[in-house]
Amino acid sequence: MNKRAGRKVSKKGGGNISRRRFSVSRSMESGLDDVCRQVFSSVSDIVAVFDTDLKLVMMNPAGVKIVRLLGVKRVLMGKRLSEALPFIPKATETEYRKLIKTGKSSAGEVIYRVGDIARTGYTKRIPVKNKGRVVGIITVIQNMTELKKKESALQKNVRRLKTITFFVREMVWESDFNGTITYVSPASKKIMGYAPKEIVGEKIYSEKFFPDNHKETKKIIEDLFSKRKEFHLLRLAARNKAGGRVILEVNGALFFDEEGKAFGYIGTATNVTERQTYEENLKKFELAVESASDHIIITDPNGVILFANKAVSSTTGYSPKEIIGQRPSLWGKQMSPEFYKDMWRKIRDKKEVYVGELTNKRKNGELYIAETRISPVLDEKGEIRFYVGIERDITEAKAIDRAKTEFVSLASHQLRTPLSIIDWYTESLLAGDKGPLTEAQKGYVDEIHKSNRRMVDLVESLLNATRIDMGTLVVSPKPVSLPKIADIALSDLAPQIKEKEIFVSKVYDEIPNIKLDPDLTEIIFQNLLSNAVKYTPKNGKISIKIRQEGKNIVISVSDSGIGIPEKQQSKIFSKLFRADNARIVNPEGNGLGLYITKAVIEAAKGTIGFESKEGKGTTFTVTFPVARSRKPQAKKIA
Ligand code: ADP
Repeated sequence: MNKRAGRKVSKKGGGNISRRRFSVSRSMESGLDDVCRQVFSSVSDIVAVFDTDLKLVMMNPAGVKIVRLLGVKRVLMGKRLSEALPFIPKATETEYRKLIKTGKSSAGEVIYRVGDIARTGYTKRIPVKNKGRVVGIITVIQNMTELKKKESALQKNVRRLKTITFFVREMVWESDFNGTITYVSPASKKIMGYAPKEIVGEKIYSEKFFPDNHKETKKIIEDLFSKRKEFHLLRLAARNKAGGRVILEVNGALFFDEEGKAFGYIGTATNVTERQTYEENLKKFELAVESASDHIIITDPNGVILFANKAVSSTTGYSPKEIIGQRPSLWGKQMSPEFYKDMWRKIRDKKEVYVGELTNKRKNGELYIAETRISPVLDEKGEIRFYVGIERDITEAKAIDRAKTEFVSLASHQLRTPLSIIDWYTESLLAGDKGPLTEAQKGYVDEIHKSNRRMVDLVESLLNATRIDMGTLVVSPKPVSLPKIADIALSDLAPQIKEKEIFVSKVYDEIPNIKLDPDLTEIIFQNLLSNAVKYTPKNGKISIKIRQEGKNIVISVSDSGIGIPEKQQSKIFSKLFRADNARIVNPEGNGLGLYITKAVIEAAKGTIGFESKEGKGTTFTVTFPVARSRKPQAKKIA
């Protein structure tokens, strides 16, 4: 039977089979029972049987259909493998022969091509044996393209997930509903200092991570987990392996199995320590600004108010709400238009900080004085982003200050009369009007006279300073000769110059008379020259120069004296200020001379400056413009 079968398959099988959709050679028929036949007919993959010559002897109905779909017009029973299944790679024949020879089966993926499309098939090749002899080979080709597609999509997803999990800065975690951590991504090392294996198996709220607040954290997590709801942006203060504070921002979503049943949580945890510190600082800063006692506003570059703190209502009377969107002119506009122009020039064009005293108007119409500071805030490109305006209501302080000044002024006035009387009488005594004095008496009266003169000078200075502060110093300019006034001041100082044996040099250019207040100009020379004498030791040098430089008259007074310490130079024109070295060499100064001098010079549109080196000497330089356009008139200076 085998022999027959073999013959039929090898010789006539092809013709026989071609008339039927599928057929089996008789030798094979005996190898298949009914069950096999049914299975064979119902499989949806290609099942093909080849004889030992690799000629197709049988194919199942589904196989026939698939092969047709794959472009084979006629299923060629009895044809060789390469013709019957032309889409199969050439190498398959060799493989089949090997199997026939060895009687072993094989399986694996085969890529077959139909036109340009490559498909993947899973092929099983099983030799058919009859009484130990291989009589043919069954091949089953499963179409795996769809499966492959799905699988590769799945794998891509897995890879994507893995990549995300491994490389994002967030720590990905999973836990069951009891809070036991079942997975954590490698970011745990960076965020918490623990490797994943040190974390997995721990409770999410473990004391290991929350030593300071274990109980509270446990409660928070348990409450959340019992609700079985996702949660977001939960902030937890943990400690890392090294004990450092780590603020975690945790998100959690329910984790479902294939059947859609939730079995735990999956989520992320981010280290927001820095952010939290920044936020806390910002909050502190906001609170500080909000509740600062000074009025603070922030405006855009055009002066439109973006922010106003609470204190704004106590200065202006307007609530922050009423102010936002408005401009500071809401309570300003009390100064001259030139004043505001100058201010804007400084803060907008020069991008400098403005500091000054302004009169403003409250909502109720009351005027107040504000010490104001406006700072432009620049961006990286140096463009103005905002202005920060800070005001302090100094109306009351000003009133107190004024009362004090008035008191000093009054007291000085009252002192003037008794002091002139003392001056007058001591001078008379010294002149011998009441008979000759003994040497001792003369010495005593001379001391009284000198001390009294110092007191007169002090009272004069105090009066001038109060006049400056109160704006009541009267200036009456008329044409004056500066060299003449300088000489008067020098001759007043002649006794001291002689006593200290100071060498004085004078250089006066031919200069026109200029319009200045003669009394105040005398004060300038008196102060500068008396300081030069006071602060220059014996045998020193003083030089006074009056020159014309272009449109300016320049006066300079130099000395070879003690100089002004560099650190204290910035304060030298402040009221009552005296440098340390000056206090030692002359304890009796009052620190008013230069304050008055500067005010007087500036009132006449002049300037004063100095150069000094401690131990070497000092040069004060005063500049007045020659052409003074103003008519001589009495005016007050402030
Ligand atoms: P006073 O001379 O009464 O102290 P001033 O207002 O005239 O007050 O001067 C203020 C301070 O400036 C002095 O105390 C001294 O420290 C310093 N000063 C002024 N002139 C000179 C100078 N020529 N040489 C050194 N220091 C000077």
